[in-house]
Amino acid sequence: MNNWQRVDDETAMLAIGAAIAQRFPSGGLITLHGDLGAGKTTLVRGLLRALGHTGNVKSPTYTLVEPYHLGGRDIFHFDLYRLAEPEELEYMGIRDYLRPDALCLVEWPEKSAGILPKADIRIHIRHCGNAREILIE
Ligand code: ADP
Ligand code: MG
Repeated sequence: MNNWQRVDDETAMLAIGAAIAQRFPSGGLITLHGDLGAGKTTLVRGLLRALGHTGNVKSPTYTLVEPYHLGGRDIFHFDLYRLAEPEELEYMGIRDYLRPDALCLVEWPEKSAGILPKADIRIHIRHCGNAREILIE
């Protein structure tokens, strides 16, 4: 996908998350860019469900990271919105999360100001009326 694509509703956003899950059979780093309410966590929920997660997916707004273990693999969902300073990522041991065999999904990567390595894919989401548009690079 090199162009903005319309995503009609939440169900479609969940399906995109599921499709992305198939593209990452092992580890990787996926960053999610977009305003509050864009649908970043929704996409992560679709991805986690596709990998077998059945419970809630809460935004780790205060804890910064929520760990999952699905299909023998570690998956870490970050929400850096409340990160006070990029160095906080070093204190929390970000390098231990970014192992080659772990899949990391990061909302608000902008807050990390260069501490995160280059993402495998960057997902941009924006509002489009009541729907959304998505760009994956
Ligand atoms: P973010 O994590 O970017 O802040 P959320 O994933 O929490 O955003 O989603 C915010 C709201 O947007 C939710 O109510 C969700 O159902 C809705 N939403 C997600 N994707 C779409 C879409 N493609 N069209 C319309 N609403 C959507
Ligand atoms: Mg969110």
